[in-house]
Parts: sequence; C-alpha cells; structure tokens
Amino acid sequence: MNDNIQTIHFEHRSTNFNRLKGRLESSVGKAIGDFNMIEEGDTVMVCLSGGKDSYTLLDILLTLQKRAPIDFKIVAMNLDQKQPGFPADVLPNYLKNLGIEHHIETQDTYSIVKEKIPEGKTTCSLCSRLRRGIIYKIAGELGANKIALGHHRDDMVETLFLNMFFGGKLKAMPPKLVTDKGDHVVIRPLAYCAEKDIARYARGMEFPIIPCNLCGSQENLQRQNIKQMLHDWEREYPGRTQTIFTAMQNVKPSHLLDGELFDFKGIKVGDKVDEGDIAFDMGE
Ligand code: SF4
Repeated sequence: MNDNIQTIHFEHRSTNFNRLKGRLESSVGKAIGDFNMIEEGDTVMVCLSGGKDSYTLLDILLTLQKRAPIDFKIVAMNLDQKQPGFPADVLPNYLKNLGIEHHIETQDTYSIVKEKIPEGKTTCSLCSRLRRGIIYKIAGELGANKIALGHHRDDMVETLFLNMFFGGKLKAMPPKLVTDKGDHVVIRPLAYCAEKDIARYARGMEFPIIPCNLCGSQENLQRQNIKQMLHDWEREYPGRTQTIFTAMQNVKPSHLLDGELFDFKGIKVGDKVDEGDIAFDMGE
C-alpha cells in the first residue's frame, strides 16, 4: 500500500473524518429543512456526473434517508453524453454495488455540440441546455418530482460574483426552483456545504471520480477566475467566503437600490426604517 492510500485509509477511519461526515450530514439536513426541499412521498432523482460533489450528495442523502422521519425514494441517474474517454462502466458498477435504484441514460450530446458549435467557440451553453432537457425528461419517466443537483456553497458564491461582474445583477443560484414547465422541483441539498469539505470527504470515501475535462472544452474561464479570486481572499482573510454566503441569506432591500423590492417612492415622514436611521454612517 503506498503512502497516499495509507493516508486516505487513515483519514477514512479517523475521528476527524467522522466529524467531517457529521458536519456534512447536518449541513445537508439543515438545508433540506430550511428550504423544505424533501417532503413525505417524494421521489428524488439524484443526478450523478462522476464528480466529487454528486457522489457526496448521493452518499449523504442515502444516509439521511435511513434516519429521516419521513418516507421518500431516491433514484440515482447518470447521463452518459458520449464524451471521448468517458469510462461508461464506472458509475453503473458503483451504483450496482450500492444496490440502489438507478438509471443510466446514454445520449450522444457530444457529437451534436461538436457539429453545431464552430471550432474554438465555447460549447458549454448548448451542452448544458441539451443536458437539462434530457434530465427533465428522464425525471418524468422515472416518476421523480424532485431533481437533486450537487452544487454547493462555493458554486453559489461564485455565481453571485459572475452575475454581478458580467450580468449586472445581484443574483446567485437558488437552493430550490421550479422547472420552466412546472413539472419538477430542482433542489441543491449541498447548498450549505463548503467545497473543501466535500473534496476531503470524497477523498476519504475513495469515490471512483471521473475526470470532468473529457469534452475538451475549457470550463468557463470567468468562473475559474472568480474561483481564484475567492481562493486568494480566503487565504488572506480566512472565513470570507462563508461571510459572503451568510450575507446572501441576510438581504436588506431597504439598503439597496431596487425600487421593485423596496418602495422608496412611498417613503414618508413617520415611517419606521429597517435597521434604524443610519443615513450618515458610511460604514453601513
Ligand atoms: S465542460 Fe464540457 S461537458 Fe461540461 S458543460 Fe461544458 S461542454 Fe458540456
């Protein structure tokens, strides 16, 4: 056994690892409760990509399902998009060994994307649109009313900055949303989980990770830049990402400038001001 594997095995058994597992479980449980993500009788389709986030999501949901006070069903789903080199047997084997209900959908979106998008242009937006359509269709066929995705806290914070910097919008990624046709509810139970915790958990659990660069497309470069910016901030000011995330849950429309969210025009003498009168305090 090489040193790395030994370290992983040790980490797997250690108290620290159990603490990490407990932390992830309680964060997922809290997100489910706070946003009422899963209810009695739900069928939750968990989308597995083969990356650390979705393996962790499935694993934690299966643990929570065993001790939940409600009954709900979990079905795992993977979409094999026929990217060159995709190891098509890894996920089916993993899911068979777990012994849970699952569905593998094979659809060659890779060829469609390559055919439609000129060489050198980014393929992600068409690819994700195709993937989304297929995922919704499969959810319908499997009788799933909820679709669980593996996005986590850091994805949400990155999206906030992406939308601010490039879209001029104060908008992140919702923990729960209804699909356009209204047929399904998409949930993100890892919303409260930090990416570094998920990465450590995935290493300790030795999930059979499938690399995510098989399509050859550069993952959104701007997202990578923002990831790096947050990483640098975190190194200089530990805890900053969590503070930003907390701010996303603590919005004061009266102290922003969106007239749709707060009736600035209607303000008159005698009105109570949210958080008090701090008009002359630049720090606020
Ligand atoms: S990175 Fe590749 S697989 Fe992922 S969305 Fe972009 S084109 Fe699709």
